[in-house]
Amino acid sequence: MTVFTVDQRDYAARAEAVAEEFTDDAYTWEGSVPWENLQRLAEKDLYCPSISEEYGGQGRSDLAALLLIEAVGRACPDTGWFTYMQSMVGPRAIDLFGSEAVKSEYLPAVTAGESFVSIAISEPQAGSDVNNMSTTVTEEDGTLVCNGEKTWVGGVPFGDAAVTWVRFPEGLGSVVIPYDDDGVEIEEVYTNMAGYAQTRFSINDVVIPDDHVLTRGKDAFKRQLISLNWERLGSSALTVAWAATALDRALAYASEREQFEQKLDEFQGIEWKIAEMYRNVETAASLIYGCAAGAQGHEEPPSRLRTSTAKLHCSQIAEEVVSEAVQVVGARAYQQGHPLEYLYRFARSRRIAAGTDEMQLNTIARALKADGLPAVSER
Ligand SMILES: Cc1cc2nc3c(=O)[nH]c(=O)nc-3n(C[C@H](O)[C@H](O)[C@H](O)COP(=O)(O)OP(=O)(O)OC[C@H]3O[C@@H](n4cnc5c(N)ncnc54)[C@H](O)[C@@H]3O)c2cc1C
Repeated sequence: MTVFTVDQRDYAARAEAVAEEFTDDAYTWEGSVPWENLQRLAEKDLYCPSISEEYGGQGRSDLAALLLIEAVGRACPDTGWFTYMQSMVGPRAIDLFGSEAVKSEYLPAVTAGESFVSIAISEPQAGSDVNNMSTTVTEEDGTLVCNGEKTWVGGVPFGDAAVTWVRFPEGLGSVVIPYDDDGVEIEEVYTNMAGYAQTRFSINDVVIPDDHVLTRGKDAFKRQLISLNWERLGSSALTVAWAATALDRALAYASEREQFEQKLDEFQGIEWKIAEMYRNVETAASLIYGCAAGAQGHEEPPSRLRTSTAKLHCSQIAEEVVSEAVQVVGARAYQQGHPLEYLYRFARSRRIAAGTDEMQLNTIARALKADGLPAVSER
């Protein structure tokens, strides 16, 4: 933690203190929203830290958001997920790219912990292949009109709107679409392994006011991709938090459970498992914060090479560490209702969401081929 400033450490300590309050109800949320926790974070001036102050955020750095996500995610995995989604994903795009009107309409309720804004990118025929998306915004008599279909979108049942990636005549861009528009039709609601809804909805002749356009034009897609770099670090902080909490549980259990007349943590085989779990958590955290430390908001974002490496590594070690924690605890951890059983299901999602492992590998390979290895002076 010495790499952080005093202010950042103080912020992380405040986040940990408030997150501690969430532990009693942790692992009870499966599929629902811990609104009271989000509101408690907002009351304590912790929630959505990198969103502008005038819309209820704190105007802090994106690094603060990573610290918050990790602190909250360790105490309560679900509150951590909502903290990540609202600090680093949809609302952040509105704050970065939106008009005053759209920011005023959506951000104050989000930053108060009273509303949710989704991100809608995936389509039935365009998952990893985002460029293949067919949701369009066309101009008809000077009016922008959106048509298409989005799928796997999180937060629709309790959200107000989606930051929606679309195709304009000149290329990809993004707009904000409210769910209460008559042209938005819910087609299918799936329930994922962690119990949350993921929704497929169609967009039928939805009129997009000019001030609901977030990005459009020559550099629109590039700007969106840059903001994804921070989102990927947010996902990484969340998965490291889950891995850390799994390790914590394994440590506690192994220090109490006895077999063959000794504590589990006295067997060298278990000690080595725990040491390996820690090695994974620590290397993953170093990747995230090392990557974030050199970046400055949207102007100097973290590099695609390092963010993809962090996202890939953190998603994979989370699955591995949680699985090893299940192994240390044994049959108890495999039962429905056990925190590790839930974490195991929840953690699996991050190797697919926000860009699959394979897409991160593609990005890493492309960045290395294009730019070579970063120099020592770029570390
Ligand atoms: C929990 C969860 C939450 C999500 N939330 C949202 C959300 O809120 N909003 C949203 O828009 N989407 C969301 N998604 C969707 C997610 O973004 C997509 O699932 C993801 O982009 C992959 O698309 P796909 O599932 O269609 O898989 P596909 O793209 O069909 O890929 C299937 C498999 O093939 C691999 N593959 C594909 N192309 C290549 C290639 N070129 N080289 C090597 N391997 C390849 C993939 O990596 C994957 O393993 C969520 C997904 C999950 C699991």
